[in-house]
Amino acid sequence: MWRVIIKQDRLKNFRSGHPWIFSGAIHSVRGEGENGGLCRLEDESGNFLAVGYLNEKSDIAVRVISRREELVDAVFFERRFAALKDERERLIGDRSDAYRLVFSEADFLPGLIVDRYGDVLVLQCHTLGMELLKPLVVEALAAVFAPRAIYERSDVGARRREGLDDNQTGLLYGVEPGEAIITENGLRFAVDVANGQKTGFYLDQRENRAAILPHCKNCRVLNCFSYTGGFAVYAAKGGATQVVSIDVSKPALKLAEKNFELNGFKSGKFEFIAADVFDFLPALPKNSYDVIILDPPSFAKTRWELKSAFKAYTTINSKALAALKDGGILATSSCTGYLDELTFIKILHQSSTIVGCDLKTLKIAAHPPDHPYNLSFPEGRYLKFLIVQKTPRP
Ligand code: SAH
Repeated sequence: MWRVIIKQDRLKNFRSGHPWIFSGAIHSVRGEGENGGLCRLEDESGNFLAVGYLNEKSDIAVRVISRREELVDAVFFERRFAALKDERERLIGDRSDAYRLVFSEADFLPGLIVDRYGDVLVLQCHTLGMELLKPLVVEALAAVFAPRAIYERSDVGARRREGLDDNQTGLLYGVEPGEAIITENGLRFAVDVANGQKTGFYLDQRENRAAILPHCKNCRVLNCFSYTGGFAVYAAKGGATQVVSIDVSKPALKLAEKNFELNGFKSGKFEFIAADVFDFLPALPKNSYDVIILDPPSFAKTRWELKSAFKAYTTINSKALAALKDGGILATSSCTGYLDELTFIKILHQSSTIVGCDLKTLKIAAHPPDHPYNLSFPEGRYLKFLIVQKTPRP
């Protein structure tokens, strides 16, 4: 195992609980092993600090896995997964049989995402270190869950920074999963774990989807960036008279239609339109909808893209407000991690100024408990969700 010695004057960040050791904070690396392998972190006097893994080719040289001197083997992962399973099930209760079991750094397992869709588990490895630990991860997941399938969706761009290929997908355990059917707040959704976006479903919006339901009775609802119709199915359940779902992805819309059928919503009140929201929204006349939902993909993957992201958020929010009736509801999200909540609120204010209305905040929300935001890892905070009411100025 590697031994990594941290500079004495660079221990503050580690002591604050942050799981990353940057290459500049490293005094020396001793011992030998393969790059990406486990390491013992020590201070300059040789005192044990933590167990982590080392990537000498990354700026984030070490990611901490445990602050206890323990063996990282399949039993270690079994213990961690069993504890997380208990925690998640206590927090989610019977609201869903689908949840994020492991949220990487926030759950002290840097570089690892595991989502549970009933009896199917989907994992993503973001780092070289976690890639090397994957056989132990799969063994432990199989032991704790006895799942029908463990499927890998490591097709994420972040892997390139770690020297890994960004298109690693496939079955790791069990049988080909096909479509997993999950139940969320009493509603059923088909999840295509092999071909869907991310690991198949946007579990992080579970509670925000539920939050729009009471606003939809007898309403005309527009669901922009609908993916497989998550928010739209809740709107139908809430008694909407019309629900229009817009997405650029035709396969996503096809699954959205299926999700309506799965819940017994079959009437012609529900429409699915393959279109670019940036073209669709500006073409709408005033007073077209009573409720509009915006859940776009991240508009900034790096800090340098923030300026264009501000512009994109302002465009879609102001165009949506213009198409909304007075007194109507806008449910709007941002999953751009580089954009903090206060800045997003300022963007919404700016958007309302363009339209000449006020916005009353009915709800400000963020992450659900299966996507914890750990205070010692601020980088993990990303989701903002607001429900606001378009309010004419008297
Ligand atoms: N609200 C969804 C998740 C949305 S993910 C849910 O609850 O499940 C974002 C979606 O936006 C993706 O499905 C993607 O295909 C779509 N998308 C990205 N850019 C788009 C654009 N310019 N116009 C329309 N859809 C877009």
